[in-house]
Amino acid sequence: MFPSIVLASALHLTPPQQASVFTPEPGYQRPKNRIAGDKAMRIIFLRTSFENDSDPTVSRHSDAEMREVGEALTSFFKIQSYGTMTVSKFEISPVVKIGKSSLYERTDKDGKEVPAKQRRAPITDAVAAAQRQLGVDFRKEFDMICVMLNASPTGGKISPPGVAALATGPQTSIFFGAKHPWRVYAHEIGHNMGFPHAWSVLDKKGEETLSTDRNFIEYGDPTTPMGKGSNSYSLIERYRMGWIGSKDTDSRFVKAFEPGEISFMAYDRPDASGCVGGYIQGDFGVEIKELVSKRDGA
Ligand SMILES: [Zn+2]
Repeated sequence: MFPSIVLASALHLTPPQQASVFTPEPGYQRPKNRIAGDKAMRIIFLRTSFENDSDPTVSRHSDAEMREVGEALTSFFKIQSYGTMTVSKFEISPVVKIGKSSLYERTDKDGKEVPAKQRRAPITDAVAAAQRQLGVDFRKEFDMICVMLNASPTGGKISPPGVAALATGPQTSIFFGAKHPWRVYAHEIGHNMGFPHAWSVLDKKGEETLSTDRNFIEYGDPTTPMGKGSNSYSLIERYRMGWIGSKDTDSRFVKAFEPGEISFMAYDRPDASGCVGGYIQGDFGVEIKELVSKRDGA
């Protein structure tokens, strides 16, 4: 009896579903708490004002501005992932009032640095204020929360010097400027997805590749918005997301090239299939993780 039951249920098993993302080899996998490469991503632009704004009902980030960014990101992620990841929705929040701007300033109106322990975290406060004022838990309802700030009415500075935006953890980012091109959002969401900055393999003089003094350029990679590029994540970032595989049975894949074998399809075409890139194995005296884990001036 028992074996026949097993046989019967086996006959009704559906074949295992083909995963829609490929699994990169362990050294390239992203931290486990990051968004899956086949997620229908939900983005909220969380607009804020300060208690001391002359009119705290107003954000300098208009509906039209945020809509344009949301639409650009929607087509960007679809193209980057070959349709595997989608933006299922983006929403623009009503204006949520956080504390007085001086609570968040790194430098006050006179340019004097405010000690870190005296400062509040604007992202934390914005998410909490949204819950109180709108009754919505954005951390539950959305995968990515982009916090939009007004300028501090005191004239103090909330951003670190030279920083337009930054990302924290898997879900949140904050935008300090008056207006940011959509590529800045692609960069910060790239951090949320688990990408570090993309370094150049050229030295700072632009002369030596993979120099032994390891004097490389943060943001130096021209092929991705995680570096100094713009419109497309790099081959390696797409591989890390599981959008490109590594077996020649995968619909698109990278492979180790043999000398003389360099024929592949452009990976940034929406219809990319088959071999879309590769690598040459060799000892360059430097590991990629050394490049990506260090920060310039940090
Ligand atoms: Zn960055």
